[in-house]
Amino acid sequence: MTSPNSSPNPAVSTAESAAGPALAFDDTRTAFAHRSTRDLRRARWMFGLIGAPALVTLGARAIRLALALRLPLNWALRPVFDYFCGGEDIEESLDTARKLSRYGVKTILDYSAEGQTGEGALNAAHDQIMSAILSAKGDARFAFAVFKVSALSDNALLEKVSGGGALTANEQLAWQQVEDRVSSLCTAACNHGVPIMMDAEESWLQTAIDALAETMMRRHNTEGCRVYTTAQLYRHDRLSYIKQLQESAQKEGWVVGVKLVRGAYMEKERERAIAEGRTSPIQPDKAATDRDFDAAVDFALQHLEHVNIVCGTHNEKSTFKLSQDMRSKGLQPGDGRVAFAQLLGMSDNLSFNLAAAGFQTAKYVPYGPLREAIPYLIRRAEENTSVGGQTSRELELIRQELRRRKAQ
Ligand SMILES: Cc1cc2nc3c(=O)[nH]c(=O)nc-3n(C[C@H](O)[C@H](O)[C@H](O)COP(=O)(O)OP(=O)(O)OC[C@H]3O[C@@H](n4cnc5c(N)ncnc54)[C@H](O)[C@@H]3O)c2cc1C
Repeated sequence: MTSPNSSPNPAVSTAESAAGPALAFDDTRTAFAHRSTRDLRRARWMFGLIGAPALVTLGARAIRLALALRLPLNWALRPVFDYFCGGEDIEESLDTARKLSRYGVKTILDYSAEGQTGEGALNAAHDQIMSAILSAKGDARFAFAVFKVSALSDNALLEKVSGGGALTANEQLAWQQVEDRVSSLCTAACNHGVPIMMDAEESWLQTAIDALAETMMRRHNTEGCRVYTTAQLYRHDRLSYIKQLQESAQKEGWVVGVKLVRGAYMEKERERAIAEGRTSPIQPDKAATDRDFDAAVDFALQHLEHVNIVCGTHNEKSTFKLSQDMRSKGLQPGDGRVAFAQLLGMSDNLSFNLAAAGFQTAKYVPYGPLREAIPYLIRRAEENTSVGGQTSRELELIRQELRRRKAQ
């Protein structure tokens, strides 16, 4: 985010923002000010339903089967889609962007189709992402554009390039097209003043994605941070990778943009490493991931001249720690070199309280045809199932806010 937060929460005065009001992530009034009581009741019902692990497992199976049989699903999934996605197209999502920006939270339009193949579908995905960039152009409600390289490339090709395999003539041609799509999106975003992020994916695809991201950062980040890569700190090699990037950037005179996340594909990574009889790229435990995540944030704060970050997490502790560390270093909350990001429908208590305190905060707002968003919706449901019988954090917060409103 290069521009300071232009639409702070009207409830927080500028003086208060400059002084840095205390952050309270249990302030559900601020967290849910953008949701009506009717919306919250519906969300309570939905989170209650997806809180049952057996129901989610069964539901996910039934949905995959219905998808394969091309049965109609919209009626069943619409409430979940409406909560976690902006809409079926950009136009529909603008309403969400408008609502978020009223409270100082910016939007990252995220085209949600996954696993496309064939040049036609890959070009169509490129055009969709380009439309998102053009919608964000000159519009302060939008923070970044974002894309997944796997939306622009056949996965088998991405894997072959990552593994350093020799490409056939046809594959070389196809890879050139992937490079052209990535380059075209980054160039357009930079020309239109829209910072752009590249998501991180499975480790067997990531080496090629890293190479593309590094080329784009070297080309576009010489006068500020415009292109961001993503580092998954559940990988034990990522902290040293970030340090290497910083060294190159400092030597060559550019800025590393990096979204820091823990990583979304842990089970898949471990299963594949076991199946292939190699060491897993994933940290031995959660504590190790947390330790590297904190260390990466610390490292960035010490090297802000050459490393700008987006802190992509729903973890309250990490988020609070970064906000405090910024203050103790004398950084303004709105410093454009540090931003926070969460997903739409998740951790509103972080997003809206951060924005109210003047921090640069944005939400991924996925959009796309409902059918194509299904894998994304299943992941959100799985993330919100109850663990060890405990109510999900989202449901707990929604209940708390409904109780607060009733007591008024
Ligand atoms: C804005 C945003 C953008 C994102 N972009 C990406 C992206 O580009 N690529 C991507 O892969 N993910 C991405 N994610 C998802 C992210 O990687 C996490 O899966 C998700 O946010 C949960 O982690 P957390 O930090 O929010 O919460 P936490 O609950 O603190 O952490 C959960 C995470 O910790 C790690 N973990 C859990 N158990 C273990 C264990 N036993 N050993 C080692 N590690 C463990 C896993 O990564 C797990 O997802 C994004 C998330 C957000 C909010």
